[in-house]
Amino acid sequence: MLGPLPSISPFPASNPMSSATQPVRIGRRDPARVVIEWADGHTTEYSTAQLRRLCPCAQCIHELTGRQLLDPASVPDDLTQRDVRLVGNYAIAVQFADGHNTGIYTFVALRAKDPGAAEG
Ligand SMILES: [Zn+2]
Repeated sequence: MLGPLPSISPFPASNPMSSATQPVRIGRRDPARVVIEWADGHTTEYSTAQLRRLCPCAQCIHELTGRQLLDPASVPDDLTQRDVRLVGNYAIAVQFADGHNTGIYTFVALRAKDPGAAEG
């Protein structure tokens, strides 16, 4: 059953490719982190383990219920990545050292879930 559209849009109301969600650099030199520099000057830093726990793929998040299937405790804090590549112009895909590589992380979600951002 299709309900009304959710009231909270994943995109900023003004422009989905605003400078806040447009990366100018994605750093992956340190295998234990992924650093994203945004066009508005903000820098978002994820540890690779944090990114792995946020994986939105169908193996990690139930497609219908949205329930997390991945046990976050099963991801070691020192997990590393072997590669980060661009997906189109809207997302990145991460090759994790544990072999997982099916997650697509959109820029909008990466910015929204910034672990360094203040709450609220
Ligand atoms: Zn996944």
